[in-house]
Amino acid sequence: MKSLAAVLRRAKEPLELHERELPPPAPEEVTVRIEACGLGLADWNVAMLDALPVTPLTLGCEAVGREVVSGRRVGITPLATSCGRCASCAAGLDAHCAAATWHGFNRDGALCTVGNFSTQHLVPLPDAADAAPLAVLMGSGLVADAAVQAVRGARVGVFGLGGLGHLVLQLLGARGIGFELDPARQVGAPQKRPLDCAVVCVPSVQAIQQAFALLEPRGRLVVAAQSPHGRFDLSLQALVSRGIEMVGAHLAGASVERVLARWSDGTLQPKVTVKPLADAPASLYALRDGGHLGRLVFVP
Ligand SMILES: [Zn+2]
Repeated sequence: MKSLAAVLRRAKEPLELHERELPPPAPEEVTVRIEACGLGLADWNVAMLDALPVTPLTLGCEAVGREVVSGRRVGITPLATSCGRCASCAAGLDAHCAAATWHGFNRDGALCTVGNFSTQHLVPLPDAADAAPLAVLMGSGLVADAAVQAVRGARVGVFGLGGLGHLVLQLLGARGIGFELDPARQVGAPQKRPLDCAVVCVPSVQAIQQAFALLEPRGRLVVAAQSPHGRFDLSLQALVSRGIEMVGAHLAGASVERVLARWSDGTLQPKVTVKPLADAPASLYALRDGGHLGRLVFVP
């Protein structure tokens, strides 16, 4: 079976479309024909690494497809495999497993027409649903859910309203207040009232500092955007004297059932821009410059 995939051949080289003969799946894998795969800043960060964990590497860490043999519809999340034995795995927090493998990072991702995927964390999905928003729920949707589980208080600022932030804002409902660093995306006048909690959804020093400055004493800063090169500095004086709590939120603690329930009841509706897979290489480099409302999704 032929597979067309968006591949990084080496670190720092452009993403390119590559056709190859797909090998048979390993014993713990199934072959999945991809219906839709999202692409975001996490993929951009991988493409910018000085060294890739594996090469060549197919990008893409949130997708929907069908198992070729059974026809079952499945979701592909960023987490590919975990050890199942460590303390994190035993606590059901497999995303913190030190031995975890990740789609589109140290294992081939789903930005392709067809691929082989570990069955360990594949998610069974409903048949009759539009693939593009469903693909986004498998990555950004789960990270948004994990971030919201870490939120405390009644006034919650969401910093950065891109692929992740717009979903966090939807999940928070009336508690959420959106902040956008990009003036082109800013809606209304910036809010100045203090916040009980802030969720940072872009890997940006300015966003973290802005969020920190707006927190009430004993407020909580939830950082949900990651970047391998990201660093920030905050005032120790302000952190300690104001008793600010900081927490990193990733996939751990997210619930597929909860995300699908919020999607079914209409309170979680990913905004997507759908493009053909052939456009993926050019689109990856446009991601850095923003301008996409919601999430980019590619279909074969
Ligand atoms: Zn583990």
